Amino acid sequence: MSDAVRNVIIIGSGPAGLTAAIYTGRANLQPLLIEGAQPGGQLMITTEVENFPGWPEGIQGPELMAKLREQAVKFGTEVVTDDVIEVDLKQRPFTVKTSGSTYRGQAVIISTGATANLLDLPEVPRLMGRGVSACATCDGAFFKNQDIVVVGGGDSAMEEANFLTRFGRTVTIVHRRDELRASKIMGERTRHNPKIKFALSNTIERVLSDQSGVTGIVLKSTKDGRSSELKCTGVFFAIGHTPNTALFKGQLGLDAQGYIRTRPGSSYTDVPGVFACGDVQDSTYRQAVTAAGSGCMAALDTERWLEGHQA
Ligand code: NAP
Repeated sequence: MSDAVRNVIIIGSGPAGLTAAIYTGRANLQPLLIEGAQPGGQLMITTEVENFPGWPEGIQGPELMAKLREQAVKFGTEVVTDDVIEVDLKQRPFTVKTSGSTYRGQAVIISTGATANLLDLPEVPRLMGRGVSACATCDGAFFKNQDIVVVGGGDSAMEEANFLTRFGRTVTIVHRRDELRASKIMGERTRHNPKIKFALSNTIERVLSDQSGVTGIVLKSTKDGRSSELKCTGVFFAIGHTPNTALFKGQLGLDAQGYIRTRPGSSYTDVPGVFACGDVQDSTYRQAVTAAGSGCMAALDTERWLEGHQA
């Protein structure tokens, strides 16, 4: 047990958690940030971020996160690099356990984000890292001059596909409908990329492999059910995310998709003293800048709430 009761414990270190740390730090609340064993959130597996205000030339995701972290530490944030394994939000001070310690806080800010989804095929787990990936930034360079598949029709799929053309000979986007979900600008950019092909109205039935890894996929048409084979050595999933809320089930109100419910226009959850920000409570915008903005809201809500509720 780490004795002192903290003013605020922030769980998660993406743009939301780090912004909450910067603000609560500057408010002299000496926040404790539990950043997770793999800190930084989804921007750590992103390439160039072109739409974060203030970076007209763009910035690499990991570099942006390193700068946010530096800023949080500068204003007095104590950072713990460990995963939270259990929380007790039923009574104050709230308890937050990591594998190494137990912490208590008068308030908790949850910013645990969301995790990339994978296709539910039996061969996928054993092929992760052997041709199957959910992170083009991490693994793209392994596929120089090879044929790559990206699954999904959203902005992430377009972004990953365009990025992967830096390495691959071809990149084929497999999408289950005949229409993309992606924004117009991302869709157009992708269509104009000469290395990118589309296999629309298809799902992946099987990922084929040999001892060296992935060798292809079996596609199934969603229009006429016909199967076809496509040779490739890399398969990247970009099919959305699941909120990281398993820790909070039964203790906080969640919506049908598992996102934390917050009171509209605020970061208040249904437990007084517990606030949520970033992708863990936002299935709509999911941008670094909106996550950061909601982290600021959570910090201000916490600060005001603590003024009236210090034990
Ligand atoms: P998304 O918009 O939810 O798209 C997920 C895609 O995966 C959809 O096309 C969906 O198909 C497909 N999909 C989901 N489950 C599937 C399954 N089991 N089998 C096959 N396909 C499946 O997610 P996202 O692309 O990760 O984007 C999330 C949010 O972040 C969006 O708001 C997006 O605009 C934003 N974003 C923005 C940028 C940018 O502006 N630079 C970059 C990345 C993401 P259906 O279309 O048929 O549902």
